[in-house]
Amino acid sequence: ATPTALLVGTGRAAQLGIVIKGPEILESTRQIDTMVLDKTGTLTAGHMRLADVALPALAAPAAAHDGDDPDTVLRLAGAAESGSEHPVARAITEAAAARSGQLPRSSGFVNHPGQGVTATVELGRAEYTVLVGRPGWLTTQGVGGAGPQDPVGRLHAEAEGTGATAVVVAWEGRAHGVLVLRDEVKPTAAVAVAELRGLDVNVHLLTGDNRAAAEHVADRVGIAREHVLAEVLPQDKLDVVARLQAAGHVVGMVGDGVNDAAALAQAGRQGLGLAMGTGTDVAIEAGDITLMRGDPRAVPSALRISRATLRIVR
Ligand code: ADP
Ligand code: MG
Repeated sequence: ATPTALLVGTGRAAQLGIVIKGPEILESTRQIDTMVLDKTGTLTAGHMRLADVALPALAAPAAAHDGDDPDTVLRLAGAAESGSEHPVARAITEAAAARSGQLPRSSGFVNHPGQGVTATVELGRAEYTVLVGRPGWLTTQGVGGAGPQDPVGRLHAEAEGTGATAVVVAWEGRAHGVLVLRDEVKPTAAVAVAELRGLDVNVHLLTGDNRAAAEHVADRVGIAREHVLAEVLPQDKLDVVARLQAAGHVVGMVGDGVNDAAALAQAGRQGLGLAMGTGTDVAIEAGDITLMRGDPRAVPSALRISRATLRIVR
């Protein structure tokens, strides 16, 4: 391709809010046959909202622990999550602040990517070690009552079965309740997936979230369930891309999170990393292309522009 044609293509893309880091990137874009889409923040709005605080005390009084109530669960979780930028964390801190005003003080925050958070929270005169996250991870941290047979564990599984994202709140070594979060599929996500199909591109959904939530979104946007890769830890997202590449595919990956950055960079080695401009700086730095408007339709647009540009110069 001539440098001029590539510059023209880059300019056309920019008008659509598709910022390409260098004109040569359009060349590798042309060969993409597989597109991996992150769920949260790419296909969904990434603005999770708290839908429910579920406690065994409310479902079955016999299972209640003294002092448990939805407000305490939400306040402790909100304080513990105030150190995280994750969509799950933001939903929890927002809801906690809206319900009870100022959040309790917290310190010693530790983020466990793809799993949850721990922090020390001061409530009244007491200090609590609070954990919020996946039940399986809580169990490995020595928390009791988060197992699949426990009342809290069951509430968690029930919530996830409905397509929600759910996390368990624990303190003093015990699971106390479940926070149920919901996100919305972007209105243009299904059209974007259909357009990618029309360009003969295989579409996969990749997420750290649970399988039911992932399939719920896949069904709505038209991605086949066998192309859903769920419960993938941040460090394993890169391997998913590498495996597709090893199978002979030229892979594009679209993501927005800190946890997507390594996979975006891996895709960029021979295909393309696309970052949502509405996402984190780390993802934007790792990508070859930034989609400024956060609209998934920009993904097929980028492919069309590169194909058209390279047709003209041939
Ligand atoms: P995604 O690929 O959807 O962006 P992540 O890999 O970041 O997902 O997270 C996967 C799961 O890990 C979340 O659905 C949640 O259960 C848990 N998790 C991640 N971060 C947090 C957090 N700050 N607080 C509680 N749970 C979290
Ligand atoms: Mg994401």
